[in-house]
Formats: sequence, structure tokens, C-alpha cells
Amino acid sequence: MLAETPASRLTFAEYRFLFRAIEVIEIPEFSGSLWRGAFGHALKQLHCCQQRLHTPDCLYARLFEPPMPEVRENAGILRSTGTFPVPYVFRVQRQPARQLQPGDWFSVKLLLVAQANQYVRAIIETLQHAARQGLGKGRGRARLQEVVQWPVYGNASVLYADDLFFRAAALEPLICPEPATAARVHFLTPVNLGDHGESFVVERFLMGVVRRVSLLHRFYTDAPLAVDFGQLKQQASRIHHQANVWSGGWQRYSSRQQSVQPVYGWLGDVFLQGAELADFWPYLHLGQWLHTGKSTNMGLGRYELQRVILDS
Ligand SMILES: [Zn+2]
Repeated sequence: MLAETPASRLTFAEYRFLFRAIEVIEIPEFSGSLWRGAFGHALKQLHCCQQRLHTPDCLYARLFEPPMPEVRENAGILRSTGTFPVPYVFRVQRQPARQLQPGDWFSVKLLLVAQANQYVRAIIETLQHAARQGLGKGRGRARLQEVVQWPVYGNASVLYADDLFFRAAALEPLICPEPATAARVHFLTPVNLGDHGESFVVERFLMGVVRRVSLLHRFYTDAPLAVDFGQLKQQASRIHHQANVWSGGWQRYSSRQQSVQPVYGWLGDVFLQGAELADFWPYLHLGQWLHTGKSTNMGLGRYELQRVILDS
């Protein structure tokens, strides 16, 4: 079974960008929006063809507005997708808003999926440029000091330090561990399932994870997964669960709309149990890096999967 897990072809790595503040920088509670905005803005300046219809080799378009490929036929549940999954995730955490002083160190983690890893040098230059231009509401400037690659396997390696670039190692696909029959899923950032104001439905969460992994696999590997969504949905309804969740969130400042907008999602944890859990295990495992739900690129939908050993 392991040979056929969805992990078999999808590669990704996490990169930690370490900065030093030159000026005062306001980091909001939900920093994912800040990072995504700064990244997109700088990428457009440095790596865009500036055409109304982006050219096929435009890096901005590839990372930020990837063109929808011709996969809609025979794509099952994927056919209904309105948005193309972008190949990056800002791996932010929940932390209080803070004000950085000149000289303070701070960092952000960025996950790059599949081919996006090939452009890591351009992406480093982009975030370096973004920091030089200034981050956040007050546009406080910072200097990029170091970038470290954290592959899923293997050792961390420095890719950038003291204005020098180093070569990244080739990435290995993830091998999924043996499935468990009981697990706890702990939501680290709000998981937005598009159900704000409704009650938590575990099938919606589980199928959301399957869908997310399937979409990324479909668009970023040469081996789309053969997923029976209908059957998995039935399996999901048979999994025993206990949800200790609440709807929470952040305020996010949108510089484009010049306003503060709420970011909603589920927080807390969900206990899952049943033989059917095995079918979801590879997806749930991968989702820990890939996140799930809406606005994953800004860091929403981050969770941890913990195997639970039950007393017999
Ligand atoms: Zn372009």
C-alpha cells in the first residue's frame, strides 16, 4: 500500500528566511497576509514579463497566478475547483502582534512545492528585495541575513548567507508512515473550510485534505492520483470522531483594500478513530506540510497529526 501513497511523487521543502530589522517593523498577529503581499509585490517587480497575458516562462505567473492546465475533463471532484493551487505556503504560527526594533532578528518559513523549488534562488532574491523595500504597515526595512533549506528528510543546509548563494540538494519524496487507527489532529492556525457560522463537519475537513493533496499532485507531478472521492466520502462518514473545536481567527490588514478584515477558521483539535482512518492517513500526513482549507498560501489551515495509542 505504501508504494501507492499520494506521497510517492510530490516533493517539497521548507525554507527558513532569517532577517534583521533596519527600521521599526510592525508584525501583525496574522503575519501570513503581510508575507504573501510583500512576496507577490516584489515578485511582480523582479520576475514578471509585465504583459497583460503573462508569458509561459513568467515566474510571477507560475508562482502567483499559475495558468489553469487542461485537466478538467475526467478530473472528478477536481473539476469543480475555481482556483489553481499555488506552489507555496507561508508556514506562519499564531503569535501576538509585535513591534520589531532596529537590530532585532526575525524569520519566516516558506514551503515550496515541486517545481517551485527550482526557482529558490529567484525566490530568495525576491524576499531580499521585499525586505529592502520595507515590510508591513509602516514599511520598515530589513536585511536578509540567511536562508536555510529544511528538506523533509536529510540535513538542513544553508542556501544563502553573507551575500553568498549555495546550491540546494535534490529533494526526496515523502514516505508515509504506517497508518494508525486512532489519531488526534491539532489545528495550529485557523482551518477555513468555508463553513463559518455553521457547525464543524469532520467529513468536510477530511475530504478537504484529500482534495488539497490531490490538486497539488494533479498539477505539480506527472502522476495524478487515482482517487475514488465518492468511496472516500463514505469512509469518512464512518470514522468515529470527537471535535473540541471553536471558530476563531485573526484580523488581517489588507493593504490593497486599506482595511482590516477578519480571517476565520476552526481551532482546537479533533480525535479520529476507526479502521477507515488508514485510507486517509497518507493525505493527513502530507497535509501537515501542505495545509488545508482556504488561504493556505497565507498560512491558514496548518495542523499537526498525532498518532494515538489506545489502551486495549
Ligand atoms: Zn508576467
